[in-house]
Amino acid sequence: MSLGTIQSRLTAACAKAGRAPASVRLIAVSKVQPLERVVAVLDEGHRLFGENYVQEAQGKWPDLRARFGAVQVHMIGPLQTNKAKVAVDLFDAIHTLDRMSLAEKLAKLAQARGASPDLFVQVNTGAEPQKAGILPDETDAFVARCRAMDLPVQGLMCIPPEGEDAVPHFAMLAQMAARNGLAGLSMGMSSDFEAAIAHGATHVRVGSAIFGARAYGTPLPA
Ligand SMILES: *Cc1c(COP(=O)(O)O)cnc(C)c1O
Repeated sequence: MSLGTIQSRLTAACAKAGRAPASVRLIAVSKVQPLERVVAVLDEGHRLFGENYVQEAQGKWPDLRARFGAVQVHMIGPLQTNKAKVAVDLFDAIHTLDRMSLAEKLAKLAQARGASPDLFVQVNTGAEPQKAGILPDETDAFVARCRAMDLPVQGLMCIPPEGEDAVPHFAMLAQMAARNGLAGLSMGMSSDFEAAIAHGATHVRVGSAIFGARAYGTPLPA
């Protein structure tokens, strides 16, 4: 597949849902992809990317930004508290605000810098024990506490359980965002981004359908 194909499918999904295509942002998830594939998508004009690992993003994006100009990079992977400072300097948004200790750290950094990346609270919609995220029935209180710390929470994010129908999770997240007055919904990946758009996604995170399969363990080309 390719960027063009995914953009067409995104536009079609918006039309079907009666939504403006500009209401959905396509995050091209470039984690673990060979640099030449990322450059190819930049060459096509795309300017919004997602990364999962602070160190990998740090090694890649300062150079690519110098070369291609204004590129937005969103953090979509788990964020260790000790990497929060690097992350707030590097990323335009963080989709994985998943615990109070991280919220407190981000609030401190925001105060010191006078600015913060946009934030999405990650919700563990399936209440999976091994998965990060705020439990659904704790999310309203968590959002309220983040707001009390002046954190710029823009929306909610979820990764539905593998092998399950994602639609009930998308619907649940949309309902939780609405009742908290949050406009942003980060949901939908390569296999289900059209369903996510039908349920109100404002940010879809699409990796392999744009770049091809990820080859974990293969060294990145120099
Ligand atoms: C890797 C990843 C994606 C992209 O997954 P694809 O199936 O390749 O589209 C989206 N969201 C998160 C949180 C990811 O870690």
